[in-house]
Amino acid sequence: MVLNILHYPDPILAQKAKPVDKLTPELRALIGDMVETMYEKEGVGLAAPQVGHSVRLICLDPTGPKERTNLMVVFNPEIVAREGFVEDEERCLSVAETSCKIIRSDKITVRGLDQTLAPVRYECDGYLSRVFQHEIDHLDGKTIVDHMSRLKRTMYEKKIKKWQI
Ligand SMILES: [Zn+2]
Repeated sequence: MVLNILHYPDPILAQKAKPVDKLTPELRALIGDMVETMYEKEGVGLAAPQVGHSVRLICLDPTGPKERTNLMVVFNPEIVAREGFVEDEERCLSVAETSCKIIRSDKITVRGLDQTLAPVRYECDGYLSRVFQHEIDHLDGKTIVDHMSRLKRTMYEKKIKKWQI
């Protein structure tokens, strides 16, 4: 089922999500729905808070909706090592009609649990590293808006206020 994506400034997007320690049928269904939603919305990553569930679960596929060859589902992802910095432009399914240049770590090591709650470890760089850091930000209640300069953020807040009226 394709889920509704929450948009900034929805308060759920600003919450710190809770870790998962037990796999329930609801969580299994959520994984399937999140993956379907990510591909349908042409995203390369999605975090559970973006679909209204404040739990530490992300899915990502840097090959995108056309290829779909590198799907990863990770519970409780944690960055345990970082190396170097790189700046690039990012967009977010939850932050409409804007993008933001963000400096991220270049290489990272991520530890977490897979779909069966077995430990997994990913060493990545480049685009995948960026997607992981973006999605993990969501679990900590952060979006690309939190990376904007004060001026850019003020302008963006004004813009979305107009949409809400
Ligand atoms: Zn996002």
